[in-house]
Amino acid sequence: MSYAQPAAANYYSPPSRPQPKQRGHRVCDQCNAVEQPGSRYRLCGGCMVTQYCSQDCQKKHWPSHKAICQHTSSQISATKQQAMGSLDDNLVKNLRKFTSSHSSLLGWAGFQALQLKRMPSNIRSNALLIELSHRPSSSDPHRRFSVKGTHIVPRTYVTDNDPLVGDDIRRREDRCRRGGGLGCIVVLIQCGEISQVMPIEVDSPNRISWDSRNDWAEVLRHFVESGRTDFSPISTTARGIVYG
Ligand SMILES: [Zn+2]
Ligand SMILES: [Zn+2]
Repeated sequence: MSYAQPAAANYYSPPSRPQPKQRGHRVCDQCNAVEQPGSRYRLCGGCMVTQYCSQDCQKKHWPSHKAICQHTSSQISATKQQAMGSLDDNLVKNLRKFTSSHSSLLGWAGFQALQLKRMPSNIRSNALLIELSHRPSSSDPHRRFSVKGTHIVPRTYVTDNDPLVGDDIRRREDRCRRGGGLGCIVVLIQCGEISQVMPIEVDSPNRISWDSRNDWAEVLRHFVESGRTDFSPISTTARGIVYG
């Protein structure tokens, strides 16, 4: 006997009630509002790191954000000068696009790499370094990078190297902990001479039901190489398997 279509039970049916956000969530840097499904947060165009719920919040935040923002952009131009023009201009732009479109994948990879479910205190001592290779010739903008390697490095490698960046991470971390969160996962993305620090604020581990995965590096590689930006972490709960 053959069926024209697979039985309905083969399909994954999403839960009818919306799931609470369980992830390294995006927080407006000015008003601390947490991004909700459907809302579109804007990135600061200068540093491409801080995020805002609205243009209003971005304007209000500028006086206190100006220093770190200009510091971040000036580091990039200094690197460009050192490379004496040999640095691909598109690399910086592509890298920013990459981190912003893969933010949930990168947050999840950091959570797994640091084994935060088992050892939440690792968030204070370790950081995830992701080394990328650039493939500027790729016509698909989502496939311009591949993962060259991943390493767990001491967090001081990032925070002590650059006091301004360290301060910015501490500020986010304080805010996150005041809200009952665990703190900031530090993910460092490196591609040639360019690197980008991604601080990702995470909920307390008892509110995160993500499955622990030892194959996180392969999952990361797969989504990056195939240019897929639709990654959702998997949780196995009493009510079934939940994506997102
Ligand atoms: Zn806001
Ligand atoms: Zn900025």
